[in-house]
Amino acid sequence: MRVYNTLTKNKETLKPLKDKLIRMYSCGPTVYDYAHLGHFRAYVFVDTLKRVIKYNKYKLKHVMNITDVGHLTSDADTGEDKMEKGAKREGKTVWEIAEFYTKDFFDAMEKLNVEKADVICKATDHIKEMAEMVQKIIDNGYAYVISDGIYFDTSKLKDYGKLAGFNPEELKAGARVEFNEEKKNPTDFALWKFTAKDQKRQMEWENEFYFKPDDLDLSKIVLYERENPNIKFEKTKTKFKLTVKGFPGWHIECSAMSIKYLGKIFDIHTGGIDHIPVHHTNEIAQSEAALKKESVKIWMHNEFVLVDNQKMSKSLQNFYTMHDILSKGFDPLSLRYLFLTAHYRSKLNFTWESLKAAENAYKSLKEKIAIFDLNGKVRKNIIKEYMKKFIDYINDDLNTPYAISLLWSAIKDDKLNDKEKYEIAIEFDKVFGLKLKDVRKQIPNDIIELAEKRLKARKQKKWKEADELREKINQLGYIIQDTEDGYKIFKA
Ligand code: AMP
Ligand code: ZN
Repeated sequence: MRVYNTLTKNKETLKPLKDKLIRMYSCGPTVYDYAHLGHFRAYVFVDTLKRVIKYNKYKLKHVMNITDVGHLTSDADTGEDKMEKGAKREGKTVWEIAEFYTKDFFDAMEKLNVEKADVICKATDHIKEMAEMVQKIIDNGYAYVISDGIYFDTSKLKDYGKLAGFNPEELKAGARVEFNEEKKNPTDFALWKFTAKDQKRQMEWENEFYFKPDDLDLSKIVLYERENPNIKFEKTKTKFKLTVKGFPGWHIECSAMSIKYLGKIFDIHTGGIDHIPVHHTNEIAQSEAALKKESVKIWMHNEFVLVDNQKMSKSLQNFYTMHDILSKGFDPLSLRYLFLTAHYRSKLNFTWESLKAAENAYKSLKEKIAIFDLNGKVRKNIIKEYMKKFIDYINDDLNTPYAISLLWSAIKDDKLNDKEKYEIAIEFDKVFGLKLKDVRKQIPNDIIELAEKRLKARKQKKWKEADELREKINQLGYIIQDTEDGYKIFKA
């Protein structure tokens, strides 16, 4: 199995570092608002990757975090905490916001048939681990203090920016991020932020950090302490102690939690390409500064979902959520099908027409599978040829578009009998996750009853009632399709 490693810019053979077990970490969502199709693509990609890894008979341990503190509205460590902003917007506590959107996220994941990670870890449950890691980074000489936080000195790492292929000279010119005058280098980033003197935060913690006397500019620290009641400074015999009220920077959570659950070195780290220049670059810096060696072997990144050729994002307000997909009557698995038809490293421009086309293809696939005659004999050698091609495709950096079109070739292949086509579809579906097996399950009586009620309502032109019944049927996991004289029902 070969996968593309952003770090080396090469496709590499995936070999577990230890004991046939692949250890993998995925950056999870920031739970301050509804997740959108861009996020869904990121996690369907992760799910497909997991399925291919398992298809290759490796064991897998997958860890995903939930960001519920510290992600600021600007990647340059300025702006408001997204979580606090979400809480203000809705007049709720940050904890309520986190709980609500985390649940909504996992509901959407379930609809997309995305399997849960083995470990799901919240940033706010790991404040202690993050603070300990920051202390390690301080002890190893990579951190300094300015008025609003403890920062990482990126000039101390000789290969800072290697993931993104930065040119250090260009960076010095400050081309990439807005420059906070107090920082030593434009790329330096916050490890820990102090609550500002006039700021009211719902999420803040008191932590102690210890510095060697040479690491702090005493005259400045005394000034910060005078200015901000959330900073307290004490001198002990050998160390300087800073007691601060504040919160962790965004990047430290992923470094701390990945190491906690996967060990000091692990196989794969995933995320969207927007994480390459800042979040993942800084994660690498932190982990390597704390551990003094490389922590992640392979970095994998999915490309964006676009709308009108711009990144789908909250900030551009051009996003669609699972609720939009459902209210327009789409099956969430049609979206999964759409994602599979594009390679994860290509941009995907989303339109409702493209989703409609994917839904038509997916439905047509299910309709064919639903009526296959399964009484034929399976000729193993014929199936083998398809299987070989399939494995070549998926093991070539998850070439799902080729694998999907291979499935269609099999479905349309006159040399294959229905039973063979069915076996191929079900085998491929271990990777696709489109629930093709369910197509042949019996439709339960209560669903038929709802469908009959809906048919009656339609005949009486009671459209609202018919729509409500369709929604109910959808919610119960079935799709109803109108035909000239009745309806067809499928398992979603
Ligand atoms: P966030 O909640 O912003 O931390 O994002 C969660 C994950 O979704 C990250 O891996 C992002 O890179 C990814 N992501 C965000 N927007 C998009 C998009 N438009 N297309 C693809 N992936 C995205
Ligand atoms: Zn992360």
